[in-house]
Amino acid sequence: MLRLPRLDYLRPRSIEEATELAAQNPGAMFIAGGTDLVPNLKRRQFDVTTLISLNALPGARWIEGDAKRGVTIGAGATLDELAHHDVLDGPYRALAQACGSVSTPQVRYMGTLGGNLLVDPRCNYYNQTYSWRKAVGFCMKKDGDICLVARSSPRCWAVSSSDSAPAALSLKASVTMQGANGTRRIPAETLYRDDGIDYTTKAADEIITRVELPAPEGRMTSAYWKLRRRPAFDFPILGVAVAITWDDGVVREACGALGAVGSHPVDITTFLAPLRGKRPADDLLAEVAQAADKPSRPLDNTDLSHYWRKRMSKVYIERALRDACGLDPLAGRLTAQVATR
Ligand SMILES: Cc1cc2nc3c(=O)[nH]c(=O)nc-3n(C[C@H](O)[C@H](O)[C@H](O)COP(=O)(O)OP(=O)(O)OC[C@H]3O[C@@H](n4cnc5c(N)ncnc54)[C@H](O)[C@@H]3O)c2cc1C
Ligand code: SF4
Repeated sequence: MLRLPRLDYLRPRSIEEATELAAQNPGAMFIAGGTDLVPNLKRRQFDVTTLISLNALPGARWIEGDAKRGVTIGAGATLDELAHHDVLDGPYRALAQACGSVSTPQVRYMGTLGGNLLVDPRCNYYNQTYSWRKAVGFCMKKDGDICLVARSSPRCWAVSSSDSAPAALSLKASVTMQGANGTRRIPAETLYRDDGIDYTTKAADEIITRVELPAPEGRMTSAYWKLRRRPAFDFPILGVAVAITWDDGVVREACGALGAVGSHPVDITTFLAPLRGKRPADDLLAEVAQAADKPSRPLDNTDLSHYWRKRMSKVYIERALRDACGLDPLAGRLTAQVATR
């Protein structure tokens, strides 16, 4: 059985106390649901001496607003709450679908939105026990100095594996963080860096306090599609989130992002621009999806073949687009091409 290392466990009662404790304890980490952090600690993926629990912070677990005013979500809201909340059962459906697709019910009851946005990027050579990693000589993400996926690479290519991150980008969410030096609010997109190790712009003492989803201009629909080996359990090996605003049956704007195809969630909004001002038809959606898979660059460091994951990118983009357009997601041209090969 894998055991946790010896740790100090602090349970602050206010955000101010929590950020102060983090500033005073370099190397400390926050823990919310612990569903990502605890297994990682058991595998010695971090050297942490102190955990600062966010569970006793007041007012962390709430959801308020509506599509007219926009929705604000406390970072401590659980994935299960978000997956079933009425407020997310409309324009913001992509986020509910993303949260509902995370792992198992047990993990969704404990896992929080804040923790999900900050899931540690994953890699087959890293999410292993200490003795496994030692046997292969370690890698630069922890304890080693080379990348075992791309040996001459100066950087780590661990994969952004959060389901909610691409949904947050597609819905133009903003993230509020409070640290020892004050509070700031940033677009979800700028929370991430394209780096498998230093993957977030959040400072160590900053706590994500809330996520805001702006009110759409007019009618909006959205969808999240996720590829993985076991639908009841696994991390994404591809995630596609899209959000479309409408003007009388015509696309006003389409936004989208891919998950699990790089070290950060990848914005594909510019590739969806040809949909603007058009009524979505089968051929147009297939063409746009085909082009929008360009920035999908899966490497051979997560589950299943990366060639196949790349081929599935356009198929899943088409499915997500069709879903958001109210069309049968599985009746698209690209799905038919995959099925006949
Ligand atoms: C078997 C299994 C399957 C999983 N499958 C999936 C999956 O399919 N998709 C997926 O996205 N995830 C998956 N996960 C990962 C994880 O369960 C979820 O991402 C979950 O939402 C993490 O939330 P948490 O509250 O448990 O975070 P924690 O584990 O407590 O924390 C995760 C990280 O976020 C930081 N953190 C947490 N909250 C805050 C905050 N408010 N402010 C600042 N920092 C914070 C922590 O310091 C840590 O670095 C899986 C985990 C397991 C064990
Ligand atoms: S991508 Fe390379 S450096 Fe990063 S975790 Fe994997 S093997 Fe290690």
